[in-house]
Amino acid sequence: MKIKSRVQDGGGGGERGGEVAEQLCVDAAQFGSAARFINHSCRPNLAPVRVFTDVRDLRLPNVALFALRDIAAGEELTFDYGDKFWSVKSKFMKCECDAPDCRYPTKSTEE
Ligand SMILES: [Zn+2]
Repeated sequence: MKIKSRVQDGGGGGERGGEVAEQLCVDAAQFGSAARFINHSCRPNLAPVRVFTDVRDLRLPNVALFALRDIAAGEELTFDYGDKFWSVKSKFMKCECDAPDCRYPTKSTEE
C-alpha cells in the first residue's frame, strides 16, 4: 500500500531548498497484503526488492520478498524494515527481534 504525503524540506541547502517535496512510503496501517503481517528482524530471512510490473514510475514499485537463505517450515518470515523506518518509529517502539546484534533494542528516548 502506498501512501502519498507531502513533506516540507527543511532547507539545508539541498537541491529542493525549502520547496515542498512529495514523498511516498509504504504504510500497511489501513490496507495491505499478507505481507503486512511480516515483522521486522535485524537478522531477517527475507530481502525486499523493488520490482516494476504495470507502473514504470520509480516512486511506485511493488515490493517482492526473496528468501536470503533456506527457511524451515513454520519459521517466522521477517525482513529488515530499514534505517529510515526506525529513524521515525524508534521514538515510539523498540525492536523485539531478540537478535544478539539487534540494532534497535531500545526506544530512541531510552538510554
Ligand atoms: Zn532487532
